[in-house]
Amino acid sequence: MAFQSGEEQTQDYLFKIVLIGDSAVGKSNLLARFARDEFYPNSKSTIGVEFQTQKMEINGKEVKAQIWDTAGQERFRAVTSAYYRGAVGALLVYDISRRQTFDSIGRWLNELQTHSDMNVVTILVGNKSDLKDAREVTTAEGKSLAEAQGLFFIETSALDSSNVTAAFQTVVREIFNILSRKVI
Ligand code: GDP
Repeated sequence: MAFQSGEEQTQDYLFKIVLIGDSAVGKSNLLARFARDEFYPNSKSTIGVEFQTQKMEINGKEVKAQIWDTAGQERFRAVTSAYYRGAVGALLVYDISRRQTFDSIGRWLNELQTHSDMNVVTILVGNKSDLKDAREVTTAEGKSLAEAQGLFFIETSALDSSNVTAAFQTVVREIFNILSRKVI
């Protein structure tokens, strides 16, 4: 919190949010859709960690979400602990048209708990909801896993934009609310 004499009190919020989940579930495209309203039909992830900072308004306050993308690290099962350091939120993504990506959720949750030093606000995200004919994981299955693990849940499509903003906002709003309760 910063006080400036004669001026209104200002407060900056910067939340680190990480995207996790198996390769090719659509993490990079969720971020591209959210931050730049772009989609890459044949995106090839580059190697190395990248993040993007996005301004959001929550309860009339400006909040910055620093959203980290693994950018392909997980292909080598080598998401580093630095990636998780300081994260207060996570989007744990699977692909509703590939069951094996849903089966990996437990492993990702373990990894998140091992590497993070606090309770990370997490939303389980079933991406590619546009692929209706290829669906292998039902909405009910996603919901019930999320409930069992105490996670938020949403299905999204980075392709047709459905629920993408809502997924990020759910996490950021909850972090903001937790923080507000602690400050007050
Ligand atoms: P990442 O490895 O998890 O970052 O996944 P990418 O964002 O690179 O996406 C992998 C592939 O899935 C790419 O060919 C994307 O175009 C495609 N993709 C990502 N999101 C969606 C979606 O919501 N619907 C469909 N149909 N394809 C998607």
